[in-house]
Amino acid sequence: ATAVTEYDTIAAISTPIGEGAISIVRLSGEDAVEQVNRLFKGKDLTDVDSHTIHYGHILDATTQKPIDEVMVSVMRAPKTFTREDIVEINCHGGVVATNRILQNFLGEEVRLAEPGEFTKRAFLNGRIDLTQAESVMDLIRAKTDKAMQVAVNQLDGQLNNLIHNLREEILQVLAQVEVNIDYPEYDMDDMTTQLLLEKAQHIQTQIDGLLQTAKQGKILRHGLATALVGRPNVGKSSLLNYLIKEDKAIVTDIEGTTRDVLEEYVNVRDVPLKLVDTAGIRQTKDVVEKIGVERSKKAINESDLVLLVINAAEELTGEDQTLLELTRDKNRIILLNKIDLGAKISRDDLINQAPDTPIIEISVQNTQGLDQLEEQIATMFFGGIETNQTDVMVTNARQIGLLTQAQHSLDEVIAGIANGMPIDLVQIDMTACWDKLGEITGESAPDELITQLFSQFCLGK
Ligand code: GDP
Ligand code: ZN
Repeated sequence: ATAVTEYDTIAAISTPIGEGAISIVRLSGEDAVEQVNRLFKGKDLTDVDSHTIHYGHILDATTQKPIDEVMVSVMRAPKTFTREDIVEINCHGGVVATNRILQNFLGEEVRLAEPGEFTKRAFLNGRIDLTQAESVMDLIRAKTDKAMQVAVNQLDGQLNNLIHNLREEILQVLAQVEVNIDYPEYDMDDMTTQLLLEKAQHIQTQIDGLLQTAKQGKILRHGLATALVGRPNVGKSSLLNYLIKEDKAIVTDIEGTTRDVLEEYVNVRDVPLKLVDTAGIRQTKDVVEKIGVERSKKAINESDLVLLVINAAEELTGEDQTLLELTRDKNRIILLNKIDLGAKISRDDLINQAPDTPIIEISVQNTQGLDQLEEQIATMFFGGIETNQTDVMVTNARQIGLLTQAQHSLDEVIAGIANGMPIDLVQIDMTACWDKLGEITGESAPDELITQLFSQFCLGK
């Protein structure tokens, strides 16, 4: 079998520029092997087995002098990522040499790949669907093991399979409706209507389940925006440092030294937190501090979770009260820190003011109560339901949007039936649902969408 190679041969550097000792120039397309072979000093690459790797040198096209010592992998279609012939050149010579190698190949036969074009070809050549293509993007950006696992599952085609099956079910019921419309004399109206209703409800339940994973999926992708707030000197930076386990935030004994808002990603029991450490909220004429205060409020407003730190070794202050007030409607955890110094405030003192808020007594210094904090974050996020590795999760806005639209069409189907609408009209909404689901996997996605989607990829992927 040969690949669908109506596409020209493309090339790009497929490793991040400047990172790592080895960089890879990747070519995909009909002429890939021949073009690399032209400038390769070593074995005859047009004559090697597929999926083998070869040592040699890449020569400069004009001077015929070696540019770099390389290892070249030759992978013949169709068992490759793009389903086309792929050649990967592992270069050792750093950015300059890698770029020179790439430039040497570019010309009439080979052109520079657009961002995401390798993945796009994998899609166009039928190797992956859109959800899998998107997961390639997610894999590149994954921040935690869990996020990685979700992306891997999706790359595996799990979401694709699920959606595909739902579409099959819709197709069956649509066929039944067709029969009903074509042969009115059989008088199957009631039966068909019943079937439509049952299918619509069944599929709605399935989509509901998927949409419920969306919130978690989104957080896995972007991190749970977490505002770390509290008046100066209560231990916010210390907590941040404990969580990131390295000293990036400045910890001092001078009040209000954390003036800039710091942002850090930390992984707490598989929940990726995007942590923001803010200056404590306090009345001040100091401009820098003021910016900090404004940012604090902003951080609170924009957060999914607030960690409010209070110094348990001192009496509650007006500032603490302000923060308790400001965070009242937020998803929050109150931390009574410095309990090693002896507590002046206990959980009981705050329970009336914050009845539904978890209040945890901690000492960052003695790492006391911090396990409990991590446990609490995990519980709040996963809602007590342990997700396992085979879970299908919806992770991006495009998929969520389409699922919501599909859901809406099903609402129309169900309402239509309830209102005694003619079956051929109900059928239109069912077909709309089928279309929307097809857009998720790319089976019925418009060209512009596909172009737009792949353009978000980085170069060389
Ligand atoms: P921030 O201004 O809220 O960021 O507070 P910092 O993290 O800079 O901490 C202020 C001071 O409190 C530092 O000297 C910390 O070492 C100290 N500190 C933080 N947590 C604890 C704790 O649990 N116990 C004690 N005794 N000191 C702490
Ligand atoms: Zn601080």
